[in-house]
Amino acid sequence: MNVHDSERISGLLEQAGYVRAVPTDDTPDIVVFNTCAVRENADNRLYGNLGRLRPVKDKHPGMQIAVGGCLAQKDRGDIVRKAPWVDVVFGTHNIGALPVLLERARHNAAAEVEILESLDVFPSTLPTRRESTYAGWVSISVGCNNTCTFCIVPALRGKEKDRRPGDILSEVRALVDEGVLEVTLLGQNVNSYGVEFGDRYAFGKLLRACGDIDGLERVRFTSPHPKDFTDDVIAAMAETPNVCHSLHMPLQSGSDDVLRAMRRSYRSERYLGIIEKVRAAMPDAAITTDIIVGFPGETEADFQRTLDVVREARFSSAFTFQYSKRPGTPAATMDDQLPKQVVQERYERLVATVEEITWAENKRLVGETVEVLVAIGEGRKDERTGRMSGRARDGRLVHFATETPGGESLAGQIRPGDIVHTTITYAAPHHLNADGALVAHRRTRAGDAAEAGRSPRTPGVLLGLPTIGAPPVAPAPAAGCATH
Ligand code: SF4
Repeated sequence: MNVHDSERISGLLEQAGYVRAVPTDDTPDIVVFNTCAVRENADNRLYGNLGRLRPVKDKHPGMQIAVGGCLAQKDRGDIVRKAPWVDVVFGTHNIGALPVLLERARHNAAAEVEILESLDVFPSTLPTRRESTYAGWVSISVGCNNTCTFCIVPALRGKEKDRRPGDILSEVRALVDEGVLEVTLLGQNVNSYGVEFGDRYAFGKLLRACGDIDGLERVRFTSPHPKDFTDDVIAAMAETPNVCHSLHMPLQSGSDDVLRAMRRSYRSERYLGIIEKVRAAMPDAAITTDIIVGFPGETEADFQRTLDVVREARFSSAFTFQYSKRPGTPAATMDDQLPKQVVQERYERLVATVEEITWAENKRLVGETVEVLVAIGEGRKDERTGRMSGRARDGRLVHFATETPGGESLAGQIRPGDIVHTTITYAAPHHLNADGALVAHRRTRAGDAAEAGRSPRTPGVLLGLPTIGAPPVAPAPAAGCATH
């Protein structure tokens, strides 16, 4: 969500006439921090970075520093009190105001702090400078109506706001017109999409509608919520050819008592039931998850339940986290916070179990031919190994050799955004290698765009929050329109 917000910030600033600084520039005119309060030590990192910028700003008084995102929404005026050399503080609900606030701060030679309590314009109305030529995020909702006790999101991003299906599909089509092949539908809880306009099957319908968009090859989504997951979504995934058979569904804990304390209103049986249905409908589905270990009050028996669910669910990958307090969340003040060494020890056991399973799951793919969307920045060792990297349809990371069966290297011809087919020869816990000859290479429009150095831009004309009968709002002018 924050990364996509950063794309919006870039798009807004470009539309207002700013040009992205290149690393060789001595001192940029503006530095924007888009902060995330979910990360551990987010505030220390922010104030550390701001402290490092202070002498730079002292030398270049015209330089402006802006702080946005979740931490800004949380700390508000405290930021300029602690770091008075900051020029602008803006929140999660008014990203569109940034150009105006920068202008005002410059004009008044004083800091501008503007935080709204709720969203007035859906952020997708903002111009967006996309980072990828081949894959794009499309927000379907923002905010969350749940109250998980470890999570700061509802406090900072507000209640769920759903975007109209027509607006979402227009943005998807605009991206595909720019050459994008893969779209990820984005919401804190995609399964509750439609709650605002009274259609609990809206998300499945949206997936099916994406299936009708010519040129769209891959549809993904994040994140689903087991509480709201309905069977029609599984059917839509299985029956819509361009929807990828990958599901990232946060588990958080396998213990029902811990789930209760987390205020996550599903139980492990329901979670595993969804997975069973997904596997029945899509035997090739890759299922990934998020797990928190060491939540306050978690016992060894609770932790064992998490290990049991991990073994039963057979995840193809899992993001594992040690619980740590987030100020402002109910869990931060709960009794029974666990000692660090207990959390650490459980965490290590969890990681070992997860790796054992993900490795075994990956090994099952050796000998299979997979379709890979070639990516940028996914293979840190590619230069040394001579491989290229990308993602299979199920989301797995694949590093592949670029020789044809005749021994010719296609390294110079395969571009990020192209599609290759290749056969898996080796499996590691977190990636796959394909070191045989390439089965096929297809040049795509996304690859052409990457080669030409073009990145997709969506203009931000794609309408606002669902309001009955209202015409589309006009494109954001250079000065931004989301501030009033
Ligand atoms: S579902 Fe829970 S964890 Fe996810 S954003 Fe909402 S409150 Fe946070």
